[in-house]
Amino acid sequence: MFKLVLSGLVAALLVTMLFAGTVAAHSIEDVEAMVAELAESEYYSPELCMRYLEYKQQRVEVISYTVVKGDTLIGISERFGVSLATISESNKIENPNLIRVGQQLHFPEVSGLLYTVVQGDELTALADKYEVEYEAIWFANSLDSEELVPGTRLVIPGAKLPDPLLRARSVSRGGSHVNCGFIWPLLGKLSSTYGMRRGSFHWGIDIIGRVGAPIYAVAGGVVTSAGWAGTYGYMVALEHKSGISTLYAHATRLNVTIGDRVSQGDVIAYVGSTGHSTGPHLHFEVKVNGRYVNPLSRLP
Ligand SMILES: [Zn+2]
Repeated sequence: MFKLVLSGLVAALLVTMLFAGTVAAHSIEDVEAMVAELAESEYYSPELCMRYLEYKQQRVEVISYTVVKGDTLIGISERFGVSLATISESNKIENPNLIRVGQQLHFPEVSGLLYTVVQGDELTALADKYEVEYEAIWFANSLDSEELVPGTRLVIPGAKLPDPLLRARSVSRGGSHVNCGFIWPLLGKLSSTYGMRRGSFHWGIDIIGRVGAPIYAVAGGVVTSAGWAGTYGYMVALEHKSGISTLYAHATRLNVTIGDRVSQGDVIAYVGSTGHSTGPHLHFEVKVNGRYVNPLSRLP
């Protein structure tokens, strides 16, 4: 009900601005002054005017960002103080480890979802779907009508979103990809791939991470090794089903011991730079029946 009245209030404010001959941007003080004026009329109660102020202040802006060399999705999310899911879901990024230089990202300035309205969408249904208050969407987008126009972008602050790590599991890159049902052990920029490197073979992939960032078990299994392992530094090895084993090296600290059973997504260690390492990263290896395979062929 108050939404209709609010529309009236917005219209009244616009009229006031026009009469004042100032249609340019107004500061909060300007709006406050206008609201104070309006408060004297009998139609708009001071309560309603306060709500209008609240409405202006809760607007959520959309950030547009162009990916530059060296960017990672996790780095961007940390820089802007929003969740990783906010950026990956708002931009329909299926694999958070794969972004390209020049790619345009759009996301709300607070954690949530930048949603594109489709035919038939209703505010109440969207609020239910993403488990947020109807009013949160209303205020964040400075709406003045319940009618949603297909193609419009809507900020849904606080939207409940799927975990990007688990989402990555369900997508396949096709081709020779063998789906092991793995999730990524760490999200970050790849600094080395599997294959020849500086004259010797690199039997895994290197993923850059912050010291102390959690390293996840890519699948459920049993810990077959956990401790100091020379050039590998602090290392964890897991045995999974079907003769598959995985190895995680250069950790700063381990979270499991030999014989532990782990589930997919369990934190098994934390990123470090122990052993033969030039900076904080995870060295990750995959073996099938004792033979090394390219981890990228098994990861989602
Ligand atoms: Zn490595």
